[in-house]
Amino acid sequence: MKRTEIGTIGEFGLIDKITADYKPSQKSTIYGIGDDAAVIDNANYQTVVSTDLLMEGIHFDMSYTPLKHLGYKAVVVNLSDIYAMNATPKQITVSLAISSRFSVEAIEELYKGVYAACERYNVDLVGGDTTSSLKGLMISVTAIGQGEKGKIVYRNGAKPGDLICVTGDLGASYLGLQLLEREKQVYAANPEMQPVLEGHDYLLKRQLKPEARKDIVDLFEQSKLIPTAMIDISDGLASELMHICRSSGVGVFIEEAQVPIQEETYNQAIEFNMDPITVALSGGEDYELLFTVDSADLEKVRYMNDIYVIGDVTPKEDGIYLHTKGGNRHQIKAQGWRHFEQ
Ligand code: ADP
Ligand code: MG
Repeated sequence: MKRTEIGTIGEFGLIDKITADYKPSQKSTIYGIGDDAAVIDNANYQTVVSTDLLMEGIHFDMSYTPLKHLGYKAVVVNLSDIYAMNATPKQITVSLAISSRFSVEAIEELYKGVYAACERYNVDLVGGDTTSSLKGLMISVTAIGQGEKGKIVYRNGAKPGDLICVTGDLGASYLGLQLLEREKQVYAANPEMQPVLEGHDYLLKRQLKPEARKDIVDLFEQSKLIPTAMIDISDGLASELMHICRSSGVGVFIEEAQVPIQEETYNQAIEFNMDPITVALSGGEDYELLFTVDSADLEKVRYMNDIYVIGDVTPKEDGIYLHTKGGNRHQIKAQGWRHFEQ
């Protein structure tokens, strides 16, 4: 494949290459790329902003992450934060620090993923910054969205008696990462070995090409449901439950049997000698939504596609507990791996 050094076209040449054919489409985008700043008109909406910074070697590993997937995921994880506020992302900015290891073609590939996410989620790329880095690739994405006054959902609104709900299934992304890490080790030990990743499509897709739950936020709008608290699951269910509990000043009681775990996740956890519920609680990078609703809204959520009621909000003094399938109560800890006794 052709390799053009970024030095031959320079920073402006590169920005031009990755943005020249692009036209924003959102009504709120008054001016996008090409001036000192982008201009956004959010009219009567409240502006919701979120940023993430991804460092090579810390947040992603180039040895098994295709560049296009990386660009896609970098955008999606940010959009997920905006949806977690019950708001709608409209614009993003993308900033890069690039080492000389990366060619113009590599950055173009990364932007194919960025643009694919923009198209899929209806957001405009309106700017960014580009610089060189001594070592490794760094990507920072900022997402800007619109929230309706009175409909923005924070982490702090859960109250005892509310129901705890989660979208989708948990733990798959973490196991996808474990599979990729395992194959990397095998390859490092013996370069003759070819990665064995067949048969793990679902887990790998959850890790390499996650999606944000735009559909659920749309569903809330259609069914006139406003959660009392919400957060997206980036660090794992246990950790996000802690955040809601701390912000809202409440406790939770989770039913292990109700926590959605996909069959492939379940089987792979067993194969890795891990407890599936531990994987679901501590895994992370699922980008599902964790939210609480008033118990009066039970009928609304009960029949919604892909929404699972996994427990109840309790008074703060009751703590954060898991009711296991075996009938025991276990305190949920956010940090570290805790294998529950069978
Ligand atoms: P400035 O000198 O004002 O920082 P730049 O030359 O860095 O401007 O950027 C020129 C335009 O290109 C700006 O609109 C900026 O937002 C946009 N831009 C720069 N880098 C990127 C990038 N990596 N992705 C998208 N847009 C970018
Ligand atoms: Mg700049």
